Amino acid sequence: MATTIQSELQTRSATAAHTVIRVEEVHKYYELGETRVHALRGVSLQIERSEFVAIMGASGSGKSTFMNILGCLDRPSSGRYFLDGTDVSQLSKQELAKIRNQRIGFVFQGFNLLARTTALENVELPTLYGNRAEKPERERRARRALEMVGLGDRVSHFTSQLSGGQQQRVAIARALVNQPSLLLADEPTGNLDSRTAVEIMDILQQLNDQGLTIVLVTHEHDISEFAKRSVIFRDGKIRKDELNARRPRAAEVLKTMPTLED
Ligand code: ADP
Ligand code: MG
Repeated sequence: MATTIQSELQTRSATAAHTVIRVEEVHKYYELGETRVHALRGVSLQIERSEFVAIMGASGSGKSTFMNILGCLDRPSSGRYFLDGTDVSQLSKQELAKIRNQRIGFVFQGFNLLARTTALENVELPTLYGNRAEKPERERRARRALEMVGLGDRVSHFTSQLSGGQQQRVAIARALVNQPSLLLADEPTGNLDSRTAVEIMDILQQLNDQGLTIVLVTHEHDISEFAKRSVIFRDGKIRKDELNARRPRAAEVLKTMPTLED
């Protein structure tokens, strides 16, 4: 598994710019009839390749608004956002969709997989858009992504036959299949028991070791500690931005946790 990830990500780091994310003085307003919600109030942040950043903050502090902008799902009201050196803050919706598909992998709390569909088919889906790869090549890439998350022996299983942790690993494989420069994960462990949550963090740490840049939203301190850096939002602003002093290895923590059989 390690060697697959290694070769995979080395190819990608050789071509990527050093700074993956540069956000400058971003504001976001939502218009709600008469009222205007000022959700982001001047946010600036830079994230380099191979960083692993946890975004934290109370409900309503602007985390999801910020992640939607990072993921090119929404645009800032003002300010600029450079992704891999390209100013994406003014692009059209169509151009944003293209960048999103090529450069960003998403993982969500609810897995968002198709149920009556195999793991392999779920992971192949993103390879259908925006490129002309032939079926055998698309399938080869999907198999490789599933191997990267340790599910090489589950390719033909329907997602409904997999455990929650396995389903989230399929979702991670799907996020990786187009070789993104950035992985965005919004509460990826929110629906999982604590051991399975740490297993997912183990996979994210392994991917990050090999050079993948990861931004993760979580409200659990135990989970954010596995990242290298914590950015804490309050009232639409960054209140704290610091390197994590303690950074446990999820693989080590797992050795101390009971398994389902215990
Ligand atoms: P968090 O993810 O930290 O809980 P959000 O980014 O979802 O915070 O919300 C930040 C603020 O923006 C909140 O006051 C929220 O009510 C408001 N907000 C978020 N999305 C919308 C929307 N689509 N329309 C109007 N207001 C919104
Ligand atoms: Mg949110």
